Amino acid sequence: MTERDTFRAWAARLPAAMSAVSEAGRASFDLILPPRCPETGVIIAGPGGLAADAWRRLHFLSDPCCACCGLPFDVDVTSGTLCAACDADHPAFDRARSVFAYDAHSKSLVLRLKHGDRTDFAPILAGWMARAAAALLEEADVIAPVPLHRMRLIRRRFNQAALLARPLARLCDAEQIPDLLQRVRNTPSQGHLSKLARRRNVAGAFQVRPKYRARLKGRRVLLVDDVFTTGATLGECARVLRRAGADAVDAITVARVVGPRG
Ligand SMILES: [Zn+2]
Repeated sequence: MTERDTFRAWAARLPAAMSAVSEAGRASFDLILPPRCPETGVIIAGPGGLAADAWRRLHFLSDPCCACCGLPFDVDVTSGTLCAACDADHPAFDRARSVFAYDAHSKSLVLRLKHGDRTDFAPILAGWMARAAAALLEEADVIAPVPLHRMRLIRRRFNQAALLARPLARLCDAEQIPDLLQRVRNTPSQGHLSKLARRRNVAGAFQVRPKYRARLKGRRVLLVDDVFTTGATLGECARVLRRAGADAVDAITVARVVGPRG
């Protein structure tokens, strides 16, 4: 093995090593690898923050929005107003909220978290998620990530939704159950599928682990994921959670598509 190969092998293991670094050790680690903005690469003051340019480019979502899916509205509406899609076909979840509109900039943040080179950014994203969905977090009894199929988990080594759920659970009183749901079918990538095709793609893909069924009765679950595209995945997870006894299901994601939902 050449010196370069040795360095590459070390660099490949770095993300996992970084997540294992304790808070106490972080200061000295930062001296070796100073924190960089995950979007621009600019060195910044605090671990996991964003450079000013990146901050300005991101499109933060806020009220007014659809009372169910969180789709932003251009005009003020009365409380409880639904978007046309939710009004015509109400999703199985009660409320979904996201921090950013999904565009090239927020996509870059999500991909860097998902593909492992900036897993250290998860607690910062979780902080923004907590602010964007304070009411959902406050009312949650149980918090759980949308799961990956085990084959995908082996390939990726971690579930990005679980990385976000962990710090979110520390910000509220909800019980964290990382393996509440399991993905029993390895669905093909949903990349360019329409809303209807996505719904078919995820139908029957999730199950509540039987050992947790009793703990769901009458409780409000908060699902965590990285991106809301059409809501098909969150809707299917919510459907199985309700069928297993959950009283209500909310969802929180880093980003959401704000254009037509197929
Ligand atoms: Zn809606």
